[in-house]
Amino acid sequence: MSALKWGLIGASDIAATRVIDAIRSSGGTVTGVFSGSSARAADFAATHGLGRATSNLEELLAWDVDAVYISSTNDKHFDQATRALRAGKHVLCEKPLALDAGEAEAMVQLAEDTGLVLAANHHLPGSPLHAKVRELVNDGVIGTVLSAKIAHAVLLPERLRGWRLGQGTPGSGVILDITCHDASVLNPLLGTPVAVSAVAVQQAAWNTGGQEDAAMTVIRYENNGQSPVLAQTHDSFTVGFAMTSLEVHGTKGTVQVFDAMTQDTQGEIVLTTESGARTIDVDCSEDLYLIGLRAFTAAVHGTGVPTATGRDGLMALKVALAAQESATSGRTVHIN
Ligand code: NDP
Repeated sequence: MSALKWGLIGASDIAATRVIDAIRSSGGTVTGVFSGSSARAADFAATHGLGRATSNLEELLAWDVDAVYISSTNDKHFDQATRALRAGKHVLCEKPLALDAGEAEAMVQLAEDTGLVLAANHHLPGSPLHAKVRELVNDGVIGTVLSAKIAHAVLLPERLRGWRLGQGTPGSGVILDITCHDASVLNPLLGTPVAVSAVAVQQAAWNTGGQEDAAMTVIRYENNGQSPVLAQTHDSFTVGFAMTSLEVHGTKGTVQVFDAMTQDTQGEIVLTTESGARTIDVDCSEDLYLIGLRAFTAAVHGTGVPTATGRDGLMALKVALAAQESATSGRTVHIN
């Protein structure tokens, strides 16, 4: 499989800490970076050994690159992804794909029309832990699924306490940041999300940005006429001492995943049925972002599908937007 040449759109923390390494480990090369600031672009390129830096997006899109990785702030994803697809580049776009479902739908449609790969960089659905849970559920090991719970309450690192908290940047807040990730795990597991109810609050004294930093959400799923499934999520930037987890409850058993929602695969799966509780072995040695990069590369070469397709990213966004709307309006929001 020939290596992909990448351009980075966004001189971001996630590119610096995770994705540049994952691209290189997948066999790809990073040609250069675009930033809104030429000084930051130059600095980022020098720090990460990239040959080119620009503050002109059209210049990056004219480089000899096969694909772009977009990790700018959420409000810029739609415009940058659309321009990249129009320039004939495959696009790996950070979540949320856009701030509006219509815009995300347009991105997906454009990728389909141009025959290019558009994927959302949801790292969790590709985790061997979550793949194993889907396998157990699909094999009927826990019977008919009734409900699921995700605990995804973490303490936002100080270095990330900028635009995520508001500060006038559209697309901020814990729901678009974390609930969106939860939906990327729950949607392929539970079926079609049809209704969402959420309550969100602002808790942290250091959160002066004006956006919610903690939310609890309930999602109703439907799956081919089977009984509806309820899922519950707790997402927070304010909880320093808690483990993330996923539980799925069925008529014949429960599967629990501890450390389920972290960036590093270190979790454990416990299956409890009539015969008792047992740990299920899963090989968690691979980096989640590398798993995503490999899948994206295979998709470009027509030999696989992305960990989260553009359509998967769109559905995760729809859940997060419904949760945001519900938290604001105090009503249950239906997804069509
Ligand atoms: P950052 O704040 O690090 O970067 C986002 C943008 O902010 C950059 O593109 C950059 O704009 C600008 N920026 C960065 N540093 C500075 C600075 N010192 N001064 C001024 N502007 C700056 O964001 P993250 O890396 O945390 O998130 C980026 C995207 O990635 C988001 O969409 C987020 O949702 C997603 N994300 C996904 C994760 C995942 O696991 N899939 C994990 C973390 C984030 P410019 O490019 O113009 O320089």
